[in-house]
Amino acid sequence: MKQFQKTSELQSYLQSSGKSIGFVPTMGALHEGHLALIKASKKDCELTVCSIFVNPTQFNDPTDFEKYPVTLAADLEKLEAEGCDVVFVPSVSEMYPSGTRQLKHYDLGFIETILEGKYRPGHFQGVCVVVDLLLQAVQPHKLFMGEKDYQQIAVVRKMLELTNSSVELVKCPTVRSSEGLALSSRNARLTEEQKEQALAIYRGFGLSSETEFKQSLLENGFESIDYVACVDPQTLQEKPVGEKPYLILVAAFIGGVRLIDNKTFA
Ligand code: AMP
Repeated sequence: MKQFQKTSELQSYLQSSGKSIGFVPTMGALHEGHLALIKASKKDCELTVCSIFVNPTQFNDPTDFEKYPVTLAADLEKLEAEGCDVVFVPSVSEMYPSGTRQLKHYDLGFIETILEGKYRPGHFQGVCVVVDLLLQAVQPHKLFMGEKDYQQIAVVRKMLELTNSSVELVKCPTVRSSEGLALSSRNARLTEEQKEQALAIYRGFGLSSETEFKQSLLENGFESIDYVACVDPQTLQEKPVGEKPYLILVAAFIGGVRLIDNKTFA
């Protein structure tokens, strides 16, 4: 596996490869959810590139950024074992040579005003900025992202439209623990008991209203809830639970850790 820290070196290596490129952007602390994206890319493309970059511009909460788990040595081992071809590990100054204050703005419209957009102001602008920069560096044919971050996929699709990008966005299903907890780098900050309690999210998808879902989370150790929402999977406009197709999304705090998850009922 080739490792690069500099965009220019990454670019000259990739440009001379002449292969179809699949790209998996991550913030590291890799788990089976990330590795499923690597597997999907390897199946579809001749060369797979993974980036590991904890992007400061997408954290609206500075504490969340400071506490974000960093496990680079273990990540590199996992990528190597998975057969990833190239890993890009840029520094903040490599990604943002002019600093992080004056960034490009993306006109995302409605999608940025709801759910994660509403509760994490500026988050999706940061996501668009970094994915756009990474795409310019890697110039992949396909971009692999997880449905665990359902709204993020919709946002990135919009950004690709706005930038006239020809990259194909491939969405991959959420990988869960055998009991149903969606794998997340932030789970590393939970105790075993909190992980057990967090299964209330998975059980909540089976409940018949947002109110019951919220009540169940609060009864199972969650401190607070940003939202439990039922929406149309295409438009993300709110609709009643039970009217298929629908998508339930949740964001809630347990042990000071903000977890998100979602499930589609087709
Ligand atoms: P992150 O490192 O959290 O920014 O995630 C990098 C990519 O991995 C994103 O496209 C996520 O949606 C995806 N991802 C994270 N967790 C999972 C999971 N449990 N299942 C599938 N994809 C995931």
